[in-house]
Parts: sequence; structure tokens; C-alpha cells
Amino acid sequence: MQVKAYGAYASDKPLESMDIYRREPGAEDVQIDIQYCGICHSDLHQVRSEWEGTHYPCVPGHEIVGRVTAVGGNVSGFKVGDIVGVGCMVDSCQHCASCDEGLEQYCENGFTPTYNGATDDEPGHTLGGYSQKIVVSQKFVLKVNHPEDQLAAVAPLLCAGITTYSPLRHWNVGPGKKVGIVGIGGLGHMGVKIAHALGAHTVAFTTSEKKREAALELGADEVIVSKNEDEMAAHANSFDFILNTVAASHNLDAFTNLLKRDGTMTLVGVPEHAHPSPAIGNLIFKRRSIAGSLIGGIAETQEMLDFCAKHNIVADIELISAEKINEAYERMLKSDVKYRFVIDNATLAG
Ligand code: NAP
Ligand code: ZN
Repeated sequence: MQVKAYGAYASDKPLESMDIYRREPGAEDVQIDIQYCGICHSDLHQVRSEWEGTHYPCVPGHEIVGRVTAVGGNVSGFKVGDIVGVGCMVDSCQHCASCDEGLEQYCENGFTPTYNGATDDEPGHTLGGYSQKIVVSQKFVLKVNHPEDQLAAVAPLLCAGITTYSPLRHWNVGPGKKVGIVGIGGLGHMGVKIAHALGAHTVAFTTSEKKREAALELGADEVIVSKNEDEMAAHANSFDFILNTVAASHNLDAFTNLLKRDGTMTLVGVPEHAHPSPAIGNLIFKRRSIAGSLIGGIAETQEMLDFCAKHNIVADIELISAEKINEAYERMLKSDVKYRFVIDNATLAG
């Protein structure tokens, strides 16, 4: 079936309205009318080919929520009318060691991303959530239990929520731990809310003086403007864990210096240009680690959605119509959003 979407035909072209094709649902498939889709910084990196390897036309979007409109014959967990979500993955091999452990994001044969992944469907690569409908295998569909009037603000949980929840859980963030969240954008603001809900002493690091008060409202116990060296120095050797969500190349030493002995800084940002090499002495002399983390598995994504529903956590969003997407990208680059743009997909009809 043909549906309306918003995407780009080349890395140097703005996004525009286009018609795309969705397969008829197969036996295992769930067909979803997309109501809202968040705008992740990864969408911008990919559309502009900052990571290279982007296939065009590129329709981004992997923070998808909507209503089920059809299900295949073998689908048991979902029915027409259910409110559901789809995140960054729509398939994986289902038989490697990582998939067996529910870590589909680390599928050893490569998971299929929601956009820009290989598929048999036209045009040969997956197309994401800036579209009216999507058809996804039931294994990659999540149940949304939040109240329906919060749905637009639930969308960002599908990427920003799980990408922060997963490392916070993996590195055992909780009561008695001092935790830093670096970069208070889409991911970072979710990181602050989740670390706070997990019971950690949560410190927000921002380059934006104007976010100082706002970060406290998100649940941070303290806010540090990272450009201010004195403020940074006062926290040397004090953090158990730092989650770094920054989308641009920057000096990592300023943050590794703040870790305690045996502390870890986990990077989730994937900037276009590499970070300067970190000072290895900084790591060696206090047995500190720098690590990385990729989204989260499907079971953990459901766990995160349920955790957020229980703790009444949603994203802080600015809802926009489709024709504002290009403008939203420019504002995201200037860190001028509190804290996530979400598209009202009803506006795709034009
Ligand atoms: P975002 O909303 O643009 O937030 C990034 C934040 O980083 C900004 O709000 C800003 O926060 C800070 N920042 C920006 N430029 C900076 C600079 N030059 N120096 C220091 N800080 C800077 O982006 P996002 O959607 O949260 O995504 C963040 C990154 O994570 C992107 O690279 C994205 O591709 C990546 N990502 C990774 C995964 C994964 O699985 N690992 C998943 C999703 C996204 P302040 O204003 O507070 O300083
Ligand atoms: Zn994302």
C-alpha cells in the first residue's frame, strides 16, 4: 500500500513529502497507523550521511507510537486497536548468542534498523517512522501502557528512553551512587529522569547556561555548566558512573577526571567527527573505564516502558507538524529544544 512520508532524496537536500510503499501484513506482522514519531539526533546524522552509507530516499524515524490496524494470522500478542511502539530495530537473526540472550541490538549477524537497513520491501532498504503507517514483525513491537493522552510524549522513550535506561541498569545505577549525565538533549534529559527514578544522586552536565534551572526540574540533584572549569574541578574523583550523550566531538578528559577509582564513563553519542584521543594516564592511574552502549534489547525496552509508566515518566517534548521537520533539525543542532521534537504524523496527509 502507498502511504505519505517525509524524507530526503540526497544528503544535501532538505526533507520533503513523498509517497512510499508498505508491504501487506504477513502472518507474523503488525500494521500500525503511526500517530507520533520523535526526532532523534541519529535521524539528522543519517539523513545528512554524517555516518556514511545512507541509502536514499531516506525516511528516518525510530521513536514510533501508534495504533494497530491489522495483524497477521500468527500474531497473538497484539490486536486491532492496541496502542503500541516501535523503536530502532525491526528485525534480527533470532538465532545468534546475542539474540538468544535478548540482546538483539548486538545481533551477531546484524539487526535490521527501522530505517536504512536491508529489506526485501521496496526500495530495498527500510523506511522509518516519519510516515503514516509501518508494518513490523510482532517480535519487534512493544506494548504501551501509559495513558493515551500522553502518547506524543511516550514516543521518545522508544530510542532516547531505552538508550539511557539500558546503560544505567547495566552499570547498576541506584541509591548510593553518584551519576553524571552529560548533554541535556533528547537522550540526556531522559537519562536525568531515569537516573533520578532509579534513586541515584544525579548530576546534569550541560554546556547551556540557560538549561541550569530546567535540569533541576527534570530531577537532577545538581547541575554543572561544563564550560566552567572551577565547577568541574570541585567534582574531581567523585563519580561512580557518567553517561555521555553528547552528539559532537569533544574533550573526554574533562569528564574521565571526575570519575572515582574504578568508575566508568559510557558513551552513547555517535558524533560525525572522532573525539580527541583520551589521556590514557587518566584511565590507568585510577583503573577508570571508557565504555559504549547501543540502545537496548526488545525485552529490556518493554521493561523500560513499564518502568516509565509506573514512575509516570515521559519525555518533555515540542510537538510539530511535518513541514517543520527541517527547521527542527536546525534548532536541534543549536541545542534549542526542550528536549525532544515529536512529529504529529496526522500532519503528513498534507
Ligand atoms: P541532542 O538532542 O541533539 O542532544 C545532544 C546534547 O549534547 C545537546 O542537547 C547538548 O546538550 C550537547 N551538545 C551538543 N553539542 C555539543 C558540543 N559541541 N559540546 C558539548 N555538548 C554538546 O541529541 P540526542 O538525540 O540526544 O542524541 C545524542 C547522540 O546520541 C547523537 O550522536 C545520537 O546519534 C546518539 N544516539 C546513540 C544511540 C545509541 O544507541 N548509542 C541511540 C540514540 C542516539 P547541552 O545543551 O546540555 O550541552
Ligand atoms: Zn535514536
